[in-house]
Amino acid sequence: MKILVTGGAGFIGSHTVLTLLEEGHEVTVIDNLINSAVDSLERVEGLTGKKINFCEGDLLDYGRLRALFDQEEFDSVVHFAGLKAVGESAEEPLRYYRNNVVGTLNLLECMADAGVYSLVFSSSATVYGASENVPLIEGTPLGAINPYGRTKQQIEDILTDLSAADPRWRVAVLRYFNPVGAHESGRIGEDPKGTPNNLLPYVAQVAAGRRDKVTVFGSDYNTEDGTGVRDYIHVMDLAAGHIAALNFIANKNGIFRWNLGTGRGSSVLEVVSAFQKASGRPIPYEVGPRRSGDAAVSYADPSAALVDLGWRARRDLSQMCSDHWAWQEANPFGYTHQAGS
Ligand code: NAD
Ligand code: UDP
Repeated sequence: MKILVTGGAGFIGSHTVLTLLEEGHEVTVIDNLINSAVDSLERVEGLTGKKINFCEGDLLDYGRLRALFDQEEFDSVVHFAGLKAVGESAEEPLRYYRNNVVGTLNLLECMADAGVYSLVFSSSATVYGASENVPLIEGTPLGAINPYGRTKQQIEDILTDLSAADPRWRVAVLRYFNPVGAHESGRIGEDPKGTPNNLLPYVAQVAAGRRDKVTVFGSDYNTEDGTGVRDYIHVMDLAAGHIAALNFIANKNGIFRWNLGTGRGSSVLEVVSAFQKASGRPIPYEVGPRRSGDAAVSYADPSAALVDLGWRARRDLSQMCSDHWAWQEANPFGYTHQAGS
């Protein structure tokens, strides 16, 4: 198939592009590089020996997007492009709603006009809000609790309405839990700008000596060791989930929603300890106050994806940490400052 990947230069996008190419698909990426570097795609080309058609462009630039759909014929779209920092979304809600929601509306209009009705959308477990009714099933009532999460929830609503209005649409909504890890080559991985908000990249930078210590956000939760529990999922398992979803919607109309997680929760202290083992480096930590808006526990019931898609996560926390570390160690400053790469 010929697939348009929005946000394909980013963390999850670059790993999915690699997997799509390996599966024999042709890939065009549109990305404005607001949170990524084109180096990721160059490295994917190096790893796969295949070409990516890259368009540097913004989903908010309607003319640019329309021209792309006029120039090329796509069978399907995988839509990653979006802003994703929870804290920033509370400070700049309009920017988040415009980028994520309006960007998606532009994309959907161009798709419909071009007769492209197949879409895989990156949603998030954040749409479940503070629900601690674990394991979380897809039927859990949605209730995002920050602007970022609400952009995802609103886009899900738009896709639901669109699919109801026009039965030609074939839409897979994938609710990711906590994506971590990197391709096993260590050539591509997550490259957060500034101080990482998420636990794994922060821990990795402490292991690498870029930061002094991890602050554990609360140790008085009602969990086994008192720290927050999340469902970490290897980014290559996530990439495989996109292929499975694309295959599913190739001949099924309607909208489908699946959790992509392992079904297993790990605490902050478990992650610190697993990363210490994988890296062989000490990871000092201190306990700080809770971070506002954090749920104590969040993990998926991923059984619907297994039943419908035949997909399940295969890599465990220790592999997530060792692959994340291989990437971090080889690229201590991410894609930038890499002489000769
Ligand atoms: P990322 O920031 O690495 O990738 C997103 C990409 O989209 C970036 O390359 C960015 O430059 C691009 N982009 C953003 N706005 C754009 C626009 N208007 N036009 C064109 N390109 C634009 O993030 P990621 O971790 O790879 O996440 C991919 C998707 O998955 C996002 O939609 C995110 O909300 C969702 N998601 C991520 C996580 C996570 O923890 N990483 C969890 C759940 C869902
Ligand atoms: N966390 C932490 N220290 C950090 C970053 C995160 O203790 O520097 C905790 C956080 O409170 C949560 C877990 O690690 O319990 C995962 O947080 P992350 O931000 O990675 O994912 P999310 O909260 O969005 O699921």
